[in-house]
Amino acid sequence: MSQINQHYQNLKENYLFADIARKVQAYSAAHPEAAIIRMGIGDVTRPLAPAVVAAMQKAVAEMGEAATFRGYGDEQGYSFLQDAIAGYYRQRGVLLDRTEIFISDGAKSDLGNILDLFGPGNTVLIPDPVYPVYVDTNIMDGRKIRFLDANESNRFLPMPPSEPADLIYLCSPNNPTGAVYSRAQLESWVRYAQAHHAVILFDAAYERFIADPKLPRSIFEIEGARECAIEFCSFSKTAGFTGTRCGYTVVPRALTQDSVSLNAMWRRRQTTKFNGVCYIVQRGAEAVFSAAGTGEIDENIAYYRQNAAVITHALDQLGLSYCGGVNAPYIWLKCPDGMDSWRFFDLLLEQAHVVGTPGAGFGKNGEGYFRLTSFSSHENTAEAIARLKRLLKK
Ligand code: PLP
Repeated sequence: MSQINQHYQNLKENYLFADIARKVQAYSAAHPEAAIIRMGIGDVTRPLAPAVVAAMQKAVAEMGEAATFRGYGDEQGYSFLQDAIAGYYRQRGVLLDRTEIFISDGAKSDLGNILDLFGPGNTVLIPDPVYPVYVDTNIMDGRKIRFLDANESNRFLPMPPSEPADLIYLCSPNNPTGAVYSRAQLESWVRYAQAHHAVILFDAAYERFIADPKLPRSIFEIEGARECAIEFCSFSKTAGFTGTRCGYTVVPRALTQDSVSLNAMWRRRQTTKFNGVCYIVQRGAEAVFSAAGTGEIDENIAYYRQNAAVITHALDQLGLSYCGGVNAPYIWLKCPDGMDSWRFFDLLLEQAHVVGTPGAGFGKNGEGYFRLTSFSSHENTAEAIARLKRLLKK
């Protein structure tokens, strides 16, 4: 008989989105006339940009011609896309070698797969509240997790603890809180990682939402990060690739542990277990960085940013405290009148027909908070916010 990975028994069922769906379904069934607006799920609503679509169509045509057909590509991605990404980083003064950029089918897979490089004995630091993938992937391997409290007192940006750790997850702009680390704060994290020979796993999935030029969009803008960090990025939220699937991971050549190159290990891991991202998708991702693509993507980001501004403006008017929404697509609000997250969820669903995400689903520090997203249409955002105002002004 095979032996199963017993660590899977330690995973808690994540009921969050299933519970939300169940409650919404039950409410809709009982009140079919209710026009429910969803402001909870972190999925984008803007379609692929025209430049991306055109590039993909051209790539499809190439695949249909013997002269331009492509079979297996390099596991780590096509150089045209690696070069486009390197050019994007160069604009911010970060110089990357093509061999440091690995194209993936999205940040989620790489965030999980990267753990192949690290032993089960590592102690892992994870902020709470958190994107649940960091927690579950480490539980699957049986690693010891130490949670870092992200709360009002640290403005949802936990700083290095006094105890040592081996792996550190940082997500900035943050899902779910929308908080963004400053340069000085990331410098502290890099110094901590250097002092403990730890590795920072930096999730930059939402970097494109940073509007303030003083805020770092990559951990590699911080001196010394090349020796202690890996960065994960995604085209999902930036360019509407949630269904198309493409992202990238930067593993610097200077990053070593025990004198072993993590770049070489990751290359080995990827060439063994991964066969690359579809050529058509990589051509689409390349177009994200073209002049036309950049303009179109900027428009999409501006569109979501406008939604975020509508939401934060209303919260200001209602006197509700919140985090995020300025340099991030998420708005993390404190439930009114000391309500717990699920009570506020029920109230909003039943009285305003608006669906958000209860903060308690993201960790213990999420209790009493609620996540709204800007990934909606202007019309739905305006309507949802008008209803929220009517409800809470009563
Ligand atoms: N990282 C964070 C913080 C996210 O919120 C998400 C998706 O919601 C991802 C990574 C996953 O991105 P991808 O679609 O590229 O797998």
